[in-house]
Amino acid sequence: MRKNQKSILKVEGLKIYYPVSRGILKKPKYIKAVDGVNFEVREGEVFGIVGESGCGKSTLSRGICRLESITEGGIILDGEDIALFNNRKMRPIRKKVQMVFQDPYSSLNPRMTVFDIIAEPLLEYKLVKNRQELEERVTELLKKVGLDTYHAYRYPHEFSGGQRQRVGIARALAVEPRVIIADEPVSALDVSIQAQVLNLMNQLKKELNLTYLFIAHDLSVVEFISDRIGVMYLGDFVEIGGKKEIYKNPCHPYTQGLLSSVPVPDPDASKNRILMEGTIPSAMNPPDGCKFHTRCRKCMEICTVETPAVYQAGEDHYVACHLYK
Ligand code: SF4
Repeated sequence: MRKNQKSILKVEGLKIYYPVSRGILKKPKYIKAVDGVNFEVREGEVFGIVGESGCGKSTLSRGICRLESITEGGIILDGEDIALFNNRKMRPIRKKVQMVFQDPYSSLNPRMTVFDIIAEPLLEYKLVKNRQELEERVTELLKKVGLDTYHAYRYPHEFSGGQRQRVGIARALAVEPRVIIADEPVSALDVSIQAQVLNLMNQLKKELNLTYLFIAHDLSVVEFISDRIGVMYLGDFVEIGGKKEIYKNPCHPYTQGLLSSVPVPDPDASKNRILMEGTIPSAMNPPDGCKFHTRCRKCMEICTVETPAVYQAGEDHYVACHLYK
């Protein structure tokens, strides 16, 4: 994925804070779920986001779709800042950004047939002229995701988890979105089915030049599908780079710790494992300075007081750590 590739989505200084009430006379406190995030997604690429549970990756994805209120910052989609758009202005934008959710069962209406589920966005955005065109388009979408025409008249409960996720992908594809945000799309599926759905997403990406923002906690899943990767910790990215750079030359101590925790079939590998102490601190009370300093084995004095800037660690590879000053 080339650096000069056109950017579809740019997120600038995005903050999503949730107020926590603490009584009338006390200063309000905030859970800083997303805390000043900057990154871009380029046309035709898969940008993977990884990080432990609670790092803010799902809140970030929901914020980009404007399913969460934005506290501050910009979400520039095709050159237009949509961060403060009202519902009316968001309507055409929703067509451009589609989501594929973790649990396909709860994201599909159990009372609707698969035909109606896929037809709904086509009708809502008036993308077909008549019933015949609607039927043709639904059939085409089912075929694209590896389902048969007879599946159209079944209900979600009649499908396996993998098939339901295929229906979710077909529905997302129906409106020809600019970006598909996939939030842990395979984590609820069996390992063998995960591979099938990932292969399908990869194949569709090549065929239709799709752009994905792909969120997962499983590092091997992100490695398989992504072109570039952002590593998130406590509401912000600590490292962003190409897949090879991140996996072969991880620079941030947190990325190094995450990658070394991936199980490999080699008993000697455990000797080189980098252990991260403790758990992720509360987003309501994040540590001063570098937010990772409470768990970092390379922590220096400056790390406890000064937030690290973002430094260039290689071509198209950036890291927020004082070690690279
Ligand atoms: Fe560790 Fe300091 Fe780098 Fe933070 S800035 S990751 S504490 S070395």
